[in-house]
Amino acid sequence: MTQQMTQPGNTPQQVTALARTDSFTFSCHKGVKCFTECCRMLELALTPYDVLRLRMATGLTSQELLDNYIIIEQDPGEPFPRFYLTMVDDGRASCVFVADQGCTVYEHRPAACRAYPLGRAVIRDENGTMEEHFVLMKEEHCQGFQEPVVQNAQQYSEGQELLTYNSFNDAAAVILQHDSIRKGFIPSAKQIELFILTFYNIDTFREMVLKDRMDSITLTPTEKNRLGNDEELLLFGIEWLRQQLFAPF
Ligand code: SF4
Ligand code: SF4
Repeated sequence: MTQQMTQPGNTPQQVTALARTDSFTFSCHKGVKCFTECCRMLELALTPYDVLRLRMATGLTSQELLDNYIIIEQDPGEPFPRFYLTMVDDGRASCVFVADQGCTVYEHRPAACRAYPLGRAVIRDENGTMEEHFVLMKEEHCQGFQEPVVQNAQQYSEGQELLTYNSFNDAAAVILQHDSIRKGFIPSAKQIELFILTFYNIDTFREMVLKDRMDSITLTPTEKNRLGNDEELLLFGIEWLRQQLFAPF
């Protein structure tokens, strides 16, 4: 899964491939002249774990986030829809969560916001082996490259508390980059509904599982108790969806 935070209106943009241990000079803080510039005019793709965390930040349910803050798009030929954070119609296309003092959901901000100006993608081969790639995006408006802090991609990711996000995004690759997808598998409308439910509507999925409203899921009280934990539920949903879409592969 790619962490994506792009600003279509802000070019030119210099994108350089980066190894995990390659150093770069960059720092972002409230003192930079461009503070919060990168929170406007952007396409902010959300992962399932991002939505899980935004629920914590906002106190909203996943259904409320989907209804009010998330745009769902599906390009022809793509197997699954993509999910983007809504921007405000304020003439600057600002993120719904940006304020003068900064990000109002900072503790739970999405992975792409944490990673920027790094971008990270993983490629999963047919044997399940994951290959990680980084790029560094230098956009004209971003003054952080003038700041004298040197780090590599690994150190920057740790400093931004990205590793947990990365682990859940990598877990989702078992669906998004399944070998069947590469071979042209197209999910049915019902399967896309299940994808949205398990990946992006975790509260509704939990309610259906705990109330035994999912035909193919039967759980003991102990297992139900375990799924009270959001992260356990997300991993359970990924594995269950894999079986629904691709079993017996
Ligand atoms: S979620 Fe926060 S950091 Fe990310 S674009 Fe919005 S305001 Fe900026
Ligand atoms: S330094 Fe770059 S990342 Fe930081 S606020 Fe400015 S544009 Fe955003």
